Order: sequence, then C-alpha cells, then structure tokens
Amino acid sequence: MTPFDATPSLIRQTSPDRGLLDGFGRRVTYLRVSVTDRCDLRCTYCMAEHMTFLPKNEVLGLEELDRLTAAFIGLGVRKVRLTGGEPLVRKGLMDLIAGLSRHIRAGALDELTLTTNGTQLARHAEDLARHGVRRINVSLDTLDPDRFRRLTRGGDLKQVLAGLEAGRSAGLKIKINAVALRDDNAGALPELIAWAHGEGFDMTLIETMPMGEVEADRTDQFMSLTQVRRELSAFWTLEDLPLNTGGPARYVRVAETGGRLGFITPLTHNFCEACNRVRLTCTGVLHTCLGREDAADLRAVLRDGADDRALTAAIRAAVAGKPQGHDFRIDRGAAPAVSRHMSMTGG
Ligand code: SAM
Ligand code: SF4
Repeated sequence: MTPFDATPSLIRQTSPDRGLLDGFGRRVTYLRVSVTDRCDLRCTYCMAEHMTFLPKNEVLGLEELDRLTAAFIGLGVRKVRLTGGEPLVRKGLMDLIAGLSRHIRAGALDELTLTTNGTQLARHAEDLARHGVRRINVSLDTLDPDRFRRLTRGGDLKQVLAGLEAGRSAGLKIKINAVALRDDNAGALPELIAWAHGEGFDMTLIETMPMGEVEADRTDQFMSLTQVRRELSAFWTLEDLPLNTGGPARYVRVAETGGRLGFITPLTHNFCEACNRVRLTCTGVLHTCLGREDAADLRAVLRDGADDRALTAAIRAAVAGKPQGHDFRIDRGAAPAVSRHMSMTGG
C-alpha cells in the first residue's frame, strides 16, 4: 500500500480508447511532469545565477501531482517522465514514484522515467529501480571537472559519475543528454560520445533553446547539430536508425563505437507534426507545446475542488488547443521565444 493508493483514480471512470486527441489529430500519449523548479545546480544555459524560486504553496503537493498524473494516464497517456528543476531534490519524490508505479503494475502505464542531473543519483538509484523505473536520462555536458564546475556554477563532477555508477549497478538503462555549446563543449563532443558509448550508455545531443532570460548569450553558444553531425561524419560512420519516439530526437548508430546517438534539433528542424507530448509544470500549468506561451491552469481547476469529470474535461480542452508548431528562433538580440525557464517547464 503506497500513500496514494487511496487517491481516487480516473482510470476506472474514463475510456482510454477515446484517448487525448488534439485539433490536428495527434494523440497525446506522453506526459512530462516538472516536480519542482528548484535545483542544486545552476547550469548557465538553463538558469540565471540568482534564481528566485517559487513559494511552496504555488508548487503542486505530492497528492496533487499524483492525482493530475493519474488523470492523464486515465486518458491514455502511456509514458510519464518526471523532471524539473532537479526531480531528485524534491522531498517525497520517492513516495510519488512509489505511488505512480501502481499504474505500471496495473498495465495502464508503459514507462515511468526521469531526467536528472545525477548529483543525487547514488542515494536513489536502488529505490528508483525497486519502484519500476527502468531507464533514466542523465544530463552531462562535459567530462572536465573544472569546466563542469563552471558550466553548472559549482557542481562536482565526481557526484554525477558516482550516480551513474550506482544507476548502472541498480540495473537502470542510462542515456546521457548533453547540450551542444560552441564555447564550452563543442570540441570535446566526440570524446564525450565515445566515453558514453564505452560505458554502455546511449547519448543524445541537444541544441540550446531560447527559454527564459539567462546571463549568457545563447546565440554565441548556439551550435547547429547539422554542423555537429557533419563534423562527426568526417571520422565516424553514422547509420540512420528508424527509431522515432514521437519527439524531436533523430537517432543514428555510430558504427565505430556500436552506440546509439540522438540529435534533438528543435531549431534547425521542425518536429511538430508527430508530436505526442505535453508538459505539466510544478505549478500545475499544462503547456501543450514547449516553444509556445499556451497554458492551461490545472492547479486552479484542482484547487477549485473539481471532481474527476471536470478535471478530465479541463485536460481534454487544453489538449484540443495544442498549437500546430513551435515558435523557436535564435536570432541575435531577439527575446527568448518563451519567457519561462526550462527548469519551470521541465526539459
Ligand atoms: N535537472 C535535470 C537535468 O538537468 O537533467 C532535469 C531538468 S533539465 C531542465 C532537463 C534538460 O533540459 C537537461 O538535459 C538540460 O540540459 C536541458 N536544458 C536546460 N535548459 C536548456 C536550454 N535552454 N536549451 C536546451 N536544453 C536545455
Ligand atoms: Fe538544474 Fe537541470 Fe537546469 Fe542544470 S539543466 S540548472 S541541472 S534544472
């Protein structure tokens, strides 16, 4: 019995057959939930150095997070990714995960996973595996301890490496995510990829996205992954893989390392036509597109005392309005496409 087994579940009351369809006929099956806006790091491309975090009462409680997530699962969502901020700094996260794992046992959810910076993973890896988490994404942009400290404004690379080791020992399948940054890691990307593949980890590269004001000028740091791919092709054989997860990533196999490499290219390629995902912020706002300002306040619906039927209706209405595509551009001097930080929305 977990703390949330008694939470009213929408699963019994709604028919997943009808699913969550948007106005363009896309089916939403993937929910990302930001469980906190807080983090123990301050990556330069993600956060301002002095962030003001949200007051506690604005952030969804664990039971609210559980109820909302259950509502989406009841509407046909098959994959849930917990993110943040740093999910592993959220108090009670393991209770939330233990509670949500009931949907995996019931066959209503295919995958419960998380994206983490890895600093706290050594303490939590065993519990994650015990609660049905099979795969995780760990963000790591560099293997150089000094550069890591600079990029994260104070982080200790050793903690992340210990977390990765613990994850592996616990049997978690790990994918490394790295943001491609012209000045900070571009030259070292082949080394990072070769290391990840040597450790048995998949690897995904991400283009910086203009989200929220930070001190750094992202136009200076922006690297087109088309260019990165071209440069990697000069010394590696990149074989296209048919894998498509309904997201912005496209995958290749690196013949020489035998490992899988993904490219997330929101700026240089449009990936919206097959988009299957929506994002819930830690304040209960549903964003149906990462790169637009559209938003539905589900916390207000919850805190107004909505019953399950009203909550379901609010979710359906929000998803019906999912925009056709994002608005990202990375023009010099332009304001960020969206004003919220990635740590609010959950990457
Ligand atoms: N703290 C966790 C972590 O770092 O993995 C989860 C949240 S973090 C916001 C999720 C992902 O978003 C990370 O891989 C991070 O590198 C990425 N990210 C943050 N800001 C970004 C930006 N402006 N452009 C592209 N990716 C970004
Ligand atoms: Fe924290 Fe993740 Fe943002 Fe880095 S990318 S500051 S680890 S939330």
